[in-house]
Amino acid sequence: MPVIWTPALDEDCARWRAIAARLTHERFAPLADAIDREQRYPLEHLPHLLSSGISGMFLPQAYGGAGASLTALSAVVETVAGGCASTAAILAALSLGAFPVLLGGSETQKQVLLGGLARRGEAVNFALSERGAGSDAANLETTATPEGDGWRIRGEKCWLGNGGHSRHFIVFARTAAGTRNHVTAFWVPRETPGAVVDFHEDKMGIRGTTTTNLKIDAWVPSSSIVGEPGSGLRLALSTLNIGRIVVAAQAVGIAQCAFSAASSFAATRSTFGHTIIDHQGVGFMLADGATQLSAARMMLYQAAAAHDRGEDIATLGSMAKLHASEVSHKVCDDAVQILGGRGYVKPSPVERCYRDQRITEIYEGTSEIQRLVIARAIKRHANTAAVTA
Ligand SMILES: Cc1cc2nc3c(=O)[nH]c(=O)nc-3n(C[C@H](O)[C@H](O)[C@H](O)COP(=O)(O)OP(=O)(O)OC[C@H]3O[C@@H](n4cnc5c(N)ncnc54)[C@H](O)[C@@H]3O)c2cc1C
Repeated sequence: MPVIWTPALDEDCARWRAIAARLTHERFAPLADAIDREQRYPLEHLPHLLSSGISGMFLPQAYGGAGASLTALSAVVETVAGGCASTAAILAALSLGAFPVLLGGSETQKQVLLGGLARRGEAVNFALSERGAGSDAANLETTATPEGDGWRIRGEKCWLGNGGHSRHFIVFARTAAGTRNHVTAFWVPRETPGAVVDFHEDKMGIRGTTTTNLKIDAWVPSSSIVGEPGSGLRLALSTLNIGRIVVAAQAVGIAQCAFSAASSFAATRSTFGHTIIDHQGVGFMLADGATQLSAARMMLYQAAAAHDRGEDIATLGSMAKLHASEVSHKVCDDAVQILGGRGYVKPSPVERCYRDQRITEIYEGTSEIQRLVIARAIKRHANTAAVTA
């Protein structure tokens, strides 16, 4: 009986999790240290992600996907993150880029972009952030203005997860001067003249992913608009609502990895005549970690299940991401402490987890932004309750 709470998955989700566990064990985990050390995108993993169906599992069958649920995707991302956080982040970025198309794209865009991802592994990138527009996502400086029978997009996007290996970009641009919220999403193929991936970031963690900058001064046809003109922010936020649950899955997977390394070590390492887990200071650290990790995992699967039932997951998804990422932080930090010197030097899974985990508190909305989302929901509820009282 595992100590950490385990979700009872249905047959389909359990099948996906088993595929992910096999690939993680055989392919992803053995290379995790090397790709981290070399900051190298693991191209050799892509055929496995594609042939197993994982890279397009969440896409509808009509576009070559498997129509898997968010619960199944969460189980896969969590499992992969337990062996290689970079590979899990690559998977997460694949879904993040595809969701705006899934939620708002035209039939042609779905056939080309989602079909390309499901059948050939062609990644679509979610290009929202800019140097001056991260948390304040509406503060975009990238503009799109009508030109001929299309649009001229000018600006610069940054920190694009998977940017180095994306075949397409969904670029969010301001489409009406002076109106903060008039943002439109555009499909920009990588080979578009004037769209240039100009540098890759050197990162603390998830170093097997390519995180890039995109400079753009490019013309695209009107058929490139994803959704309606002006619907870009709504599309981005709906995408992030789902993406946050996937980030929670990354956080839980990384924490599981650190926790199991720490508990195995604590059960075998002896000092002062006892295994260190029998020293209360260490045993209680693990007890707190197991409890918090179980709670984070419960929240993750409750949020994913709520999405799969068609419920609004804006608040629950924020809570799941906030809690999972902060629990992951504590569990990884404690794991380094429990391994002592061995936890601080490379190669060590806990040292890598400690660095890989950190991004889960930052991307797709920092912890402060999740608290903002939750506080706004509390205020709405309190105001409604006051009106109806
Ligand atoms: C590895 C990596 C991958 C990424 N992938 C992508 C991607 O694929 N696509 C994409 O579009 N973006 C991506 N991002 C960008 C990421 O989403 C942003 O970095 C994140 O949203 C934070 O924005 P920022 O860095 O501009 O921080 P800022 O918004 O400048 O925030 C700085 C600090 O101020 C705090 N803060 C800001 N506003 C408030 C407030 N109102 N109340 C309280 N505190 C506040 C923040 O929480 C943070 O601590 C990625 C980033 C990284 C590092």
